[in-house]
Amino acid sequence: MKIAMVGSGYVGLVSGACFADFGHEVVCIDKDEAKVARLRDGVMPIYEPGLAELVESNARAGRLSFTTSLAEGIAGAGAIFIAVGTPSRRGDGHADLSFVHAVAEEIGAALTNDCVVVTKSTVPVGTGDEVERIIADSGCTHRVAVVSNPEFLREGAAIGDFKRPDRIVIGAEDEFAREVMREVYRPLFLNESPILFTGRRTSELIKYAANAFLATKITFINEMADLCEKVGADVQDVARGIGMDNRIGKKFLHAGPGYGGSCFPKDTLALLKTAEDYDSPTRIVEAVVKVNESRKRAMGRKVIDALGGAEAARGKRVALLGLTFKPNTDDMRDSPAIAIAQALSDAGIAIAAYDPEGMELARPMLPQVEMCDDPYQAIEGADAIAIVTEWDAFRALDLDRVKSLANAAVMVDLRNIYRPEDMQRQGFRYTSIGRG
Ligand code: NAD
Repeated sequence: MKIAMVGSGYVGLVSGACFADFGHEVVCIDKDEAKVARLRDGVMPIYEPGLAELVESNARAGRLSFTTSLAEGIAGAGAIFIAVGTPSRRGDGHADLSFVHAVAEEIGAALTNDCVVVTKSTVPVGTGDEVERIIADSGCTHRVAVVSNPEFLREGAAIGDFKRPDRIVIGAEDEFAREVMREVYRPLFLNESPILFTGRRTSELIKYAANAFLATKITFINEMADLCEKVGADVQDVARGIGMDNRIGKKFLHAGPGYGGSCFPKDTLALLKTAEDYDSPTRIVEAVVKVNESRKRAMGRKVIDALGGAEAARGKRVALLGLTFKPNTDDMRDSPAIAIAQALSDAGIAIAAYDPEGMELARPMLPQVEMCDDPYQAIEGADAIAIVTEWDAFRALDLDRVKSLANAAVMVDLRNIYRPEDMQRQGFRYTSIGRG
């Protein structure tokens, strides 16, 4: 089947390349001319492990191509996916649907055949109805079914997640749509990946409910970590102790500096707005959003405390190791590093940083931070080292070298990648998260 993917970012590009790898003919469309030109030259616009190879092999096999022309890209496609951004709308936190609506208008005006239009972007309940209306209003005479098919991939593990998903959720209102979607996902269906068919509104809500639940799990263990520090308990053992209960599960119970990234912050806010609009408050999610927001800045205070408090910290220098919201991505959207760096510079602290993949995107967001070529350059002359993202490259630092380069052997490990007893033995003043 020919598949068109409108939007070639983290989700569109990975999904498009994976569908091509399943044997479909895929055209990835993006309005960003520079991005499309680079993709045609085999240069990836994002960092995602394995993506360059997947794109290259499928492009070479003639199954994957790139264009800026939506009309050209969707011609003859049986399924047209919308995978454009849905960021928080400035001012009120609603999902900004302007990109989705603009694409729906363009599709309506350019369609040449019957097809299914699939929203892969994360969109609030009712967006499918609106997309359907926009396409109908464009005067399009072809049979078009609008489907919701939210994406659950994780950056950094996106290809594996797409090809071996826990489940595929498809919200469709008629049999024609379900038939086309079965064909799109046939390779996964044969692999016995569970496919859950629901109504369109239900499917749209599933995505928000999933992200809000995961954000809640993270925030819950983060609050437990604070309590552990007060009572002298170890949050990692608490997480293990509760996670071994199958009803709870062990994933998303890693205490840290608060969730960030391109999804949880904006999706929890958007869910609150939907709940407000329908007069059905989701108070748990409200609390999660508040707790997480204040936590990121509190992590800055944790570093300041390790420097001896606000008075002593002024004029000092801190090395931040890791800037992206998680390892194996270059994505800086809503990374806790942003709030932490802000809190530190507000306190008159100089910052040097290193991140294996995130510095290009971080540079304009953190103009006050000196970007370094490697972790040791950032550590040179630092009065404290803060581990913000758990990249593998930071798990086995040469601690003798760290001590000789740093001004003081002070480490604040916001990801608990070292063991307190080892660090003490090495002569570090070591603080971590939720370990008494
Ligand atoms: P992104 O910003 O990386 O990519 C969006 C792309 O769409 C950009 O390249 C942009 O140029 C393009 N675009 C915008 N308007 C266009 C138009 N009119 N025509 C053609 N191209 C257009 O976004 P993303 O991270 O891939 O997220 C896309 C959607 O998927 C969002 O709704 C997001 O919430 C959801 N999602 C993201 C992830 C993730 O891990 N990033 C996971 C699951 C779901």
